[in-house]
Amino acid sequence: MSKYLVTGGAGYVGSVVAAHLLAAGHTVTVLDDLDTGFERGVPAGAAFVRGRIQEAADVLDPSYDGVLHFAAHSRVGESVEDPEKYWRNNVAGTLDLLAAMRAAQVRTLVFSSTAAVYGEPERTPITETDPTAPTSPYGSSKLAVDHMIGGECAAHGLAAASLRYFNVAGAHFTDDGAAYGERHDPETHLIPLVLQVAQGRRESVSVFGDDYPTPDGTCVRDYIHVADLARAHLLALEQAMPGEHLICNLGNGNGFSVREVIETVREVTGHPVPETVAPRRSGDPAVLVASADRARGELGWRPERADLAAIVEDAWRFAQRVAEESA
Ligand code: UDP
Repeated sequence: MSKYLVTGGAGYVGSVVAAHLLAAGHTVTVLDDLDTGFERGVPAGAAFVRGRIQEAADVLDPSYDGVLHFAAHSRVGESVEDPEKYWRNNVAGTLDLLAAMRAAQVRTLVFSSTAAVYGEPERTPITETDPTAPTSPYGSSKLAVDHMIGGECAAHGLAAASLRYFNVAGAHFTDDGAAYGERHDPETHLIPLVLQVAQGRRESVSVFGDDYPTPDGTCVRDYIHVADLARAHLLALEQAMPGEHLICNLGNGNGFSVREVIETVREVTGHPVPETVAPRRSGDPAVLVASADRARGELGWRPERADLAAIVEDAWRFAQRVAEESA
């Protein structure tokens, strides 16, 4: 069994990965500044250090076998308004983390990258060798870190994987009754927003554009269940080789439109979901679908909950639980 540092382990994806590491018998320390994370998101059984990634040197020592790095600012719109925040934290912060890893002789890293590095794709499905042309400082910051990690592997023998997530959704429930899901504030993501409408917490959902060149005119995205995504991180830890940087898309390879998502929420919840058409959101490509071939081939990854209804069912279960907690 191994010992891992999970940066950003109080956030959505980081907490689900930390829970999977613990379930697999590993020892986990979460480092999170709680800027956007929630302390109750830190899984029971993990040690928790409140701090920034710039302070990773205070935590890491040679007893650690690796780092899973999720801590980052991740709001596209905010990154356009305040790019410095993204360069300073996501990029310069990761530079400090890499130096801390080198000093502590911790030589394995799995990094949470994003499909936003591809920008407006020239074709779908997107493969890892397609051109990268991010359209926001958020995407640029993640791409810069991918490059930084590649250099660290080549120069200093780091074993690393960058996993480029498509649209992460759903929630994770453990046997001991814990639940991990999305708690963004403000919420901007489609599935949790539509679920809030189904719960009666919002009047309607805005469909951002219905004149895209897609079958029903609304944007198509590749939604991946957060637990399937988490399992890919554990596989990446096993596959990482010194001096090599594995870059892998994580999506199911299936696209669903905004209208299909809304319809699925109606079916799963049994509640009405009024929708209105709003203007396009700037920077939204019409279609973002991953080629999952490399994840399947290199990691041996197989999604278990690739069905949109299954993803929405778990997200709904989590949303109901959050509503009960705050009632
Ligand atoms: N979307 C929408 N209404 C909303 C939120 C999102 O129509 O209130 C659309 C958005 O334009 C995109 C898709 O839903 O096409 C997924 O958006 P989300 O913000 O969840 O993820 P992103 O694709 O931006 O990472």
